[in-house]
Amino acid sequence: MALIVQKYGGTSMGSAERIRNVARRVARWKAQGHHLVVVVSAMSGETNRLIALAKDVSPQPDARELDVMVSTGEQVTIALLAMALKDIGVDARSYTGGQVKVLTDSTHTKARILHIDDVNMRRDLDRGTVVIVAGFQGVDEVGNITTLGRGGSDTSGVALAAALGADECQIYTDVDGVYTTDPRIVPEARKLERVTFEEMLEMASLGSKVLQIRSVEFAGKYKVKLRVLSSLEEEGQETSGTLITFEEDKNMEQPIISGIAFNRDEAKLTVLGVPDRPGIAYQILGPIAENNIDVDMIIQNVGHDGTTDFSFTVNRGDFVRTKKMLEEQIQPHVGARAVEGDNKICKVSAVGVGMRSHPGVASKMFRTLAEEGINIQMISTSEIKISVVVDEKYLELAVRVLHRAFGLDQA
Ligand code: ASP
Ligand code: MG
Repeated sequence: MALIVQKYGGTSMGSAERIRNVARRVARWKAQGHHLVVVVSAMSGETNRLIALAKDVSPQPDARELDVMVSTGEQVTIALLAMALKDIGVDARSYTGGQVKVLTDSTHTKARILHIDDVNMRRDLDRGTVVIVAGFQGVDEVGNITTLGRGGSDTSGVALAAALGADECQIYTDVDGVYTTDPRIVPEARKLERVTFEEMLEMASLGSKVLQIRSVEFAGKYKVKLRVLSSLEEEGQETSGTLITFEEDKNMEQPIISGIAFNRDEAKLTVLGVPDRPGIAYQILGPIAENNIDVDMIIQNVGHDGTTDFSFTVNRGDFVRTKKMLEEQIQPHVGARAVEGDNKICKVSAVGVGMRSHPGVASKMFRTLAEEGINIQMISTSEIKISVVVDEKYLELAVRVLHRAFGLDQA
């Protein structure tokens, strides 16, 4: 008998029929004698609908009120799932984040979990009741409803698994696991049986949308055993999904590259002709960080004639705001010559722990792109990944040729 946390995403909860289907799956696990905590997302499209409605009423909705509103999506699905379970004879009880209580800080729309109270959940589990918890939400110290950022139910699931010391956290979604790349771009992509936690962390941060990055960080920190599975597979046809492991599989020859990740959601900014002296990087990026803009890749060229060029990338959604800040405040302040921006770029990355012990991955990647005439605009590396920024129009081509070059295509 194990304690299992299952998380079902919006697609899995997308209709009455699908919710009944989730209920049957939960009932099967329960019938095997396991204790179950089920974390759910809102029905697919619901959070978008709520946000759009708020913006219709108020162009810049108040963050506290927005949280009060968007958290309702999950309040609906916890109740529906509890009803569906009771209908098939399984005792279940739903909880909002506040009822659990999932304590967070007060950063509305992207709050961080500080503590999870397990008393109510344990009491129910001891009685054999299935506990159903609203994902994506919590409460702050004074009882304000908070939300954890888009895709935050993954983090709720993993955090609950950590708090309860669960044996496994199963993330049910509309794909049957983690793939070597997005099968919509490369039909030859393969499902990975296992992927290391480090690789998953890179893939999530590099744009693979299977898991919210914070959930992977959480799993790493608390050593939660995490598995990604499909909720759409029929009874008897279920596969075991992808297991996110903490160690490299010693019995198996590790592939050098496990996956090709990409992110279209990027934009590049360059400050031209900045004086080449101490403090400049800080003067450029300090104000950007203060405005909560995430900076990803950073490149500073070798100076010549006392000046240098400084480039970095941000989320595309922050492009206009960042460019404006650079032009209006930062350029005059540091005495730079000009600011350039390009929001038609993307980032393509090769990820694999095998890179540590195999030289030549970078040169193979660059040669492959060169053979297709794809110009590389920026490069960054870590121990287990190499990322390049290229023109957005080459995204599909770059992903496809790299997937093949690193031997990831299905036989
Ligand atoms: N419903 C929320 C969203 O759409 C949280 C989640 O689904 O993980 O972002
Ligand atoms: Mg999701």
